[in-house]
Amino acid sequence: MKIAGQLTIDDLPRIAPLLCRQTNPQYGEDQTRVVEVRGVRFGNGRPVVIGGPCAVESHDQTLAVAHAVKRAGADMLRGGAYKPRTSPHDFQGTGVEGLCILRIAREETCLPIVTEVMDTRLVEQVAEYADMLQVGSRNMQNYTLLKEVARAGKPVLLKRGMAASLCEWLGAAEYIAKQGNLDIVLCERGIKAFAAGEYSRYVLDLNVIPAVLANTFLPVIVDPSHATGVATMVEPASRAALEFGAHGLMIEVADFATGRPRCDADQAINGETLARIAKFAREHHERLLVEQQAAA
Ligand code: PEP
Ligand code: MN
Repeated sequence: MKIAGQLTIDDLPRIAPLLCRQTNPQYGEDQTRVVEVRGVRFGNGRPVVIGGPCAVESHDQTLAVAHAVKRAGADMLRGGAYKPRTSPHDFQGTGVEGLCILRIAREETCLPIVTEVMDTRLVEQVAEYADMLQVGSRNMQNYTLLKEVARAGKPVLLKRGMAASLCEWLGAAEYIAKQGNLDIVLCERGIKAFAAGEYSRYVLDLNVIPAVLANTFLPVIVDPSHATGVATMVEPASRAALEFGAHGLMIEVADFATGRPRCDADQAINGETLARIAKFAREHHERLLVEQQAAA
């Protein structure tokens, strides 16, 4: 018996008709809609690597990390100016000052910027500085925010709610699409599961990647940093995510020489590790191209 309100993948054509494959046959079984962010293309085959600090703390910290991310060969810079923290007593980010720092980092590195917006009243402000607007896990079902973000005219990075099903995630994306903005990139960032917290922060749900690819034409990336919460797990999780078909990675990076990060220090990797991940991503893509050519 199907319980009222209980959603399954069969409900997707009704929940997300603008985004699901079944109702958009022009994308066939495996074509992805390419989402472009200032020249960086998500979903065109080559994985996109985004790196940067958890939070924009200061000019020197952010610039040091931004240059490390650039040297590592990554494609985009991340960093939260506004931070969703569990405790209101914890560091909340540097706000508009942080946005200004991100702008300087972009000028110096030419890396496009993705940063989180949490408040409908600040969408316009954040959109002035960001090349891509991030909606965080905690706000995935903040439908008012989703609609406002969609209307800002920028591509959107929609993180999966930490306890959201695939249907709920794509339903949230549909809110953005319904405003006429199809420039959406999905991001798996770990879910709450019975073992979450015991040996890792969340449980990285790689199984969802093939399901996303089968059910929507939107690109999907993986955030191994929040998913694991453990720096040594980030590199193997990144490789695994690409093997599962993710179109990119978003990774937290620190420059420990300028100080220990104020948030999420235990999951931050350094620039050298990011460089290895970026190299793996390029080689992984080249390997797939060779395999495809051989099969054709
Ligand atoms: C982040 O990426 O900065 C972040 C806060 O992640 P999440 O919303 O997935 O917790
Ligand atoms: Mn973080």
